[in-house]
Amino acid sequence: MPFQTSVYSSLKNQIDSNVTIVAVSKTKPIADLQEAYDIDVRDFGENYVQELVDKYEALPKDIRWHFIGHLQSNKVKYIAPFVHLIHGVDSEKLLIEINKQGEKFNKKISCLLQIYIAKEETKFGLNEDELESIIQKLPQLNNVQIVGMMGMASFSSDNQIVKNEFDTLKQLFDKYSTSSTENFKLETLSMGMSGDYKMAIPCGSNMIRIGSMLFGEREYKK
Ligand SMILES: *Cc1c(COP(=O)(O)O)cnc(C)c1O
Repeated sequence: MPFQTSVYSSLKNQIDSNVTIVAVSKTKPIADLQEAYDIDVRDFGENYVQELVDKYEALPKDIRWHFIGHLQSNKVKYIAPFVHLIHGVDSEKLLIEINKQGEKFNKKISCLLQIYIAKEETKFGLNEDELESIIQKLPQLNNVQIVGMMGMASFSSDNQIVKNEFDTLKQLFDKYSTSSTENFKLETLSMGMSGDYKMAIPCGSNMIRIGSMLFGEREYKK
């Protein structure tokens, strides 16, 4: 299925202009991304490092690339030169490595701290103690810029569960938004995907990560 231009347009019309749509293009061919680019999509989200690097090389350079997957420390170096925003920072070790690569490329790398909100063991993220401990370390990490938080709700048909998880993240976001430092200033709250963005936005999300709704269902090669 090609990029769903009309779905994208009506989504854009439905939501407030302060909400950024990240078009999640993982597993999709470059031609599909180019179609999206041609109707002015500039924010793309990818989950796999090699795939992101390949797409970066093939596509126009004014694209803002979001890394939304689970990032391994030893792969940060491949995306550090060009990545716009790393959504899934879920450990101090990873943040230290991102900082190191930022130093190497003489830039500040923007990151979101991923917070664990779901009741599912399979999801990644920091708890509040880990969040506090990362914040303590930030004065030594001058090549990272924490610009917000990211979370993934449970995959559940019970809307109340999902809403509670988004509310929990928003409360944490608000709590930590009041204190800002040189490299910690929360502005972006990345929550909501194809199945739950309609709930995430009223809960305070200003960045949604939309894949299958825009590009069709994904097929994973075995
Ligand atoms: C794949 C993915 C998405 C997009 O999911 P859809 O349900 O296809 O919209 C959003 N966020 C993350 C972290 C993902 O891995």
